Amino acid sequence: MPYVFDFDHAHKKPPMDMKDLLGGKGANLAEMSSVLGLPVPPGFTIGTTACRDYMDGGWPEGLTAEVARARARLEKTMGKRIGDPVDPLLVSVRSGAKFSMPGMMDTVLNLGLNDESVVGLAKQTDDERFAYDSYRRFVAMYGRIVLGLPGDEFDALLEAAKELAGTTSDAGVPVELLRYLVDAYQQIVERHTGQPFPQDPDLQLRGAIEAVFASWNGPRAIAYRVRERIPHDLGTAVNVQAMVFGNRDDTSGTGVGFTRDPATGATGEYGDFLVNAQGEDVVAGIRNTEPLSALKDRFPAIHRELLSIFDRLEAHYRDMCDTEFTIEQGKLWMLQTRVGKRTGRAALKMAVDMVGEKVIHLSREEALQRITGDHLDQVLHPQFDSTGHTVLATGLGASPGAAVGRVYLTADDAQAAAERGEKVVLVRNETSPEDVHGMLAAEGILTARGGLVSHAAVVARGWGKPAVVGAEAVRVADSSFTVGDTVVHRGDWISVDGTTGTVVLGQVPVSEGRTPPEFETILGWADDIRAGHLGVRANADNGPDAANARRHGAEGIGLCRTEHMFLAEDRLPIVRSMILASEPAEEEAALEALRVAQRADFVEILEAMDGLPVTIRLLDPPLHEFLPDTGELAVKEATTGLTAEEERLFEAAKAWHEVNPMLGTRGVRLGVIKPGLYAMQVRALMEAAFDRVAAGGHPIVEIMIPLTVSREEMALARTWVEAAIAEARAASAVPGPGMRPAAKGSRSRGSSAPAGSLEVLIGTMIETPRAALRAGEIAEEADFFSFGTNDLTQMTFGFSRDDVEGRMMSAYLEQGLLKRNPFEVVDPDGVGELVRLGVQRGRATRPDLKVGVCGEHGGDPESISTFARAGLDYVSCSPFRVPIARLAAAQAVLAGDTGAAPATRPTATGRAKATKAAKTAKAAKAATTTKASTKPAKRAAKAVTGSGGRTRR
Ligand code: PEP
Ligand code: MG
Repeated sequence: MPYVFDFDHAHKKPPMDMKDLLGGKGANLAEMSSVLGLPVPPGFTIGTTACRDYMDGGWPEGLTAEVARARARLEKTMGKRIGDPVDPLLVSVRSGAKFSMPGMMDTVLNLGLNDESVVGLAKQTDDERFAYDSYRRFVAMYGRIVLGLPGDEFDALLEAAKELAGTTSDAGVPVELLRYLVDAYQQIVERHTGQPFPQDPDLQLRGAIEAVFASWNGPRAIAYRVRERIPHDLGTAVNVQAMVFGNRDDTSGTGVGFTRDPATGATGEYGDFLVNAQGEDVVAGIRNTEPLSALKDRFPAIHRELLSIFDRLEAHYRDMCDTEFTIEQGKLWMLQTRVGKRTGRAALKMAVDMVGEKVIHLSREEALQRITGDHLDQVLHPQFDSTGHTVLATGLGASPGAAVGRVYLTADDAQAAAERGEKVVLVRNETSPEDVHGMLAAEGILTARGGLVSHAAVVARGWGKPAVVGAEAVRVADSSFTVGDTVVHRGDWISVDGTTGTVVLGQVPVSEGRTPPEFETILGWADDIRAGHLGVRANADNGPDAANARRHGAEGIGLCRTEHMFLAEDRLPIVRSMILASEPAEEEAALEALRVAQRADFVEILEAMDGLPVTIRLLDPPLHEFLPDTGELAVKEATTGLTAEEERLFEAAKAWHEVNPMLGTRGVRLGVIKPGLYAMQVRALMEAAFDRVAAGGHPIVEIMIPLTVSREEMALARTWVEAAIAEARAASAVPGPGMRPAAKGSRSRGSSAPAGSLEVLIGTMIETPRAALRAGEIAEEADFFSFGTNDLTQMTFGFSRDDVEGRMMSAYLEQGLLKRNPFEVVDPDGVGELVRLGVQRGRATRPDLKVGVCGEHGGDPESISTFARAGLDYVSCSPFRVPIARLAAAQAVLAGDTGAAPATRPTATGRAKATKAAKTAKAAKAATTTKASTKPAKRAAKAVTGSGGRTRR
């Protein structure tokens, strides 16, 4: 296959579908030239294969000859030659990867100028100043980009020339000084490289192409790809294009135009332009631009032509396009187009509008595929109102949204300040359950350490509170924190953006997250598409969070971490007295007090989720998490001394201390050594369920055992749960028949039972590789599985979920050792393989095994696609991610991940057929696995409100 393609090459398929090869820019230039016949300056694209071959083994064989032939064709078309001393053709050499990476790679303009051709250009244009200005720009650009020389040497000379000329603008430098600059710039080149500035256009061209290839692996480009999740091995295409000049005179100009408003989605053109200017002047913002509408007065014919091109582009791409154009002496040239980037609000409006538009006429499925999780995030959460702030530090964007507040460095200080009415950002090295009250009081959270499933990240996401975690440059002290030389004191204002992970000193204006009406429309379509294929639940630990999750469209709770109920101020002392108990009676009394408190919590949750399944996980964390920090107590012991109570707690904390608590006495292991604990939790839960039944409700309870690794463990846990259920039932006034049996082998799955009845399942989390591998035997004792992919990732990779992201993850991502942070996007090959195995083996034993996921990955679109392909029934995520998961689940169905892909562009009737086809495919799949079909749960009301409550990891 050739490396080089002219823009008007007759490709076998539409060039706009060939971005893998031609890159985004090249594909669209080819589409505009060869398909749409728009006025595009001619040129050619060197495909991404050449860049990949270059990265593998240096300059590809045969490329020189292909470039020479393409150059000859270009020169023929233009009737001019590059480097010609009489009438030279100038070209630009620009990068253009498959995914746009604005400003991350290199560009060389005005290529082809040399000491002779500059004279020809001056004559041809009758503008010596223009010619020498172009030449000086070229030498500096080439010097910097191709030869790697320090740009400030060129800049210093230009500044000196301006001073000499008594001007502050580049345009004020007279031609004599420009000539001098060209000369001086060439001397810089010679001094650094030992060679004269290359005069041969072939050499210039090869150097520029090679520089663009090399810029693919420049540090800026690598960092951008890591952030944007773009694979490192794609390579970039290179576009060589005849130059046109918007800075020739007042009949020239340049601008950018959008076919609709990219900020609001409003119809009608949008953009700006500058008369007598080059593209970089528009982007650099040196001169004030004029709105596109002013083009109508200045250049009415061009304005008309441009609008008709906009119409054609929209009709052709069936989407909003952005363009760059240049007017050279009264002639319009289209330099670039692409499907335009847009805000979340605009994306929603355009997608819904275009479904109803005659020309574009999107199907709902297509409209859905145009919306991303980031678009929804933007409308759900507050955002920084403007860009271009000086970034103080960056970390991981752990929980989206922007927050502005005064810095407080302890949870107590944060809480006290919030109570005084201050807005607070809590800054900590990392957070722990003991900081929860401060986190709750804060507008936003910043931590120096920790990763995406660290305590701070999980808790903040659960509450929809903006958080930046693992900002390594932040050094936290007692009453201030520093970043390099900057000291930020307690009480100073900072702003954090949990979407991008940036921290800014001072108060950045923030716009409120407001969902436009199209938000509900799009999610309604998403729910229709995924119904019966992939459910979406929420991780919620209390009534308000559960109600909030339901408003966001959650179809149940996939994980209630009951330990969070133990952390409330009134519960912690009881938990501690249970841990400290030396006599059985003492322990029983504490458990009894906890039972009463938990029962009330469960009633609230079951009420909020009435008629929908609620998965309650029995206690998971090691008990020392409920005890004070041993380090702090040791300091206190050595200084002010401990109270008798503190001494007891210190002793207990030391006794429960473990070297590796994540792999220690937690989960079901805790139940084994303290069986009374789980029995108490189940009794509280069942009593709550009976209360709800008595009130005419319809609780659906799923009792979940954490961290099981074997059938024996699960069988034992099941006996405790069943005994506690029987006990609760015996003590209940609610008649037995309403309750579906919790006994082994129960096939109960849905929400079809009438109000006033009760359904109970007993299942387990699958959180260790062993559990996934032995899923077949564990399923003998479990009615359902829920994959805990936080722990499963930790244990599969052997990566500490609390440590590795801060320290080594960025190096791993930059060096391509990992494609994604596996705590953010589930590893499809390793962890994904364990999930697939677990599902297969579990369902081989129990074909109707209900399977979900409740790790943080449950709210990540890419991971949702992996889970859909593994055959999961539902995903569960934090309440604020629920809308994103609903969208991603529908997109997974459309992509065929659930084994059922509706056609991509059906009409109204087509859509009905597609949905039917999807259902048939799903049914076929169900038949082969003899899995009963899932009844789509009732979709809940979806309004966006704040939340409160308690949570932990
Ligand atoms: C998990 O491990 O994925 C999980 C959901 O449990 P936790 O995060 O509470 O350990
Ligand atoms: Mg876990």
